[in-house]
Amino acid sequence: MERLTFEMPQLEPGWVWLTGAGPGDPGLLTLHALNGIRQADVIVHDALVSDETLAQAGLDCEIVYAGKRGGKPSPKQLDISARLIQLARDGKKVLRLKGGDPFIFGRGSEEALALVAAGVPFRVIPGISAGVGGLARAGIPLTHRETNSAVTFITGHGASGDIPDGIDWPALAAGSPVLVIYMAIKHLAIIRQRLFDGGRHRDEAVAVVSNATLAEEVVLETTLGRCVEDVASSNIEPPAMVVVGEVVRLRDGLDWAGALGGKLLAADPLGTRSAREVG
Ligand code: SAH
Repeated sequence: MERLTFEMPQLEPGWVWLTGAGPGDPGLLTLHALNGIRQADVIVHDALVSDETLAQAGLDCEIVYAGKRGGKPSPKQLDISARLIQLARDGKKVLRLKGGDPFIFGRGSEEALALVAAGVPFRVIPGISAGVGGLARAGIPLTHRETNSAVTFITGHGASGDIPDGIDWPALAAGSPVLVIYMAIKHLAIIRQRLFDGGRHRDEAVAVVSNATLAEEVVLETTLGRCVEDVASSNIEPPAMVVVGEVVRLRDGLDWAGALGGKLLAADPLGTRSAREVG
């Protein structure tokens, strides 16, 4: 790549680079991801990879879509792994491009293990996960000293299609001040009920961020008590992240993108500092 003072690796024929594409904005690709995208003979991507990101590929690069779109069923995971293995055995330079980070709720580890079993060499290129970078971009920090020293990442959608088994909701409700929930929209009413049952309060702040980091981004600030109804009457569309916790209130001070559009930022969004400190 141009004007870098360090060497970037070569994507060799017969290799698969299992790569995170970040939340959507191509500016949030890593250098390793961009380096791989530019060298690949074939990119096998899922639905969350943005067109702008794919546009970074070379003109001769074959782009293969392997994901869900428009309600059509997705190719079976085994088929995707088999395809990656075949492409590598054909001597292609293969980039498997997945939204966010490949090892967070993305089945990247399953694909990597299939490559291991087949003896196909691979590299893992981490990406910025939507639950981290997508929320930061929207002005929501996942930790803040005055509010929380822990955060939990949860998927709202298990292998069965329902909310996942094996989540100890009472423990999470009691012990995790901030909950970052992927794939939460479909089962938001059930998730909310589990959190109420675990003692979380109706007035607790919630944000729903859809299409984070993209031009179509929508951020809905609401409360646990109102979130299901507010999502239903909003223009929120998947993919969307839900974050529950006090950190959401910091957005009043940290929505830097909103400030570009004229929003006034609060220097003390939690109202915890004395007038002298703020002034
Ligand atoms: N590996 C991905 C997550 C895949 S699961 C990552 O690390 O980000 C798919 C879920 O991720 C979506 O249902 C949504 O909850 C979330 N997601 C991915 N991209 C998103 C985006 N740009 N905006 C909001 N949510 C997103």
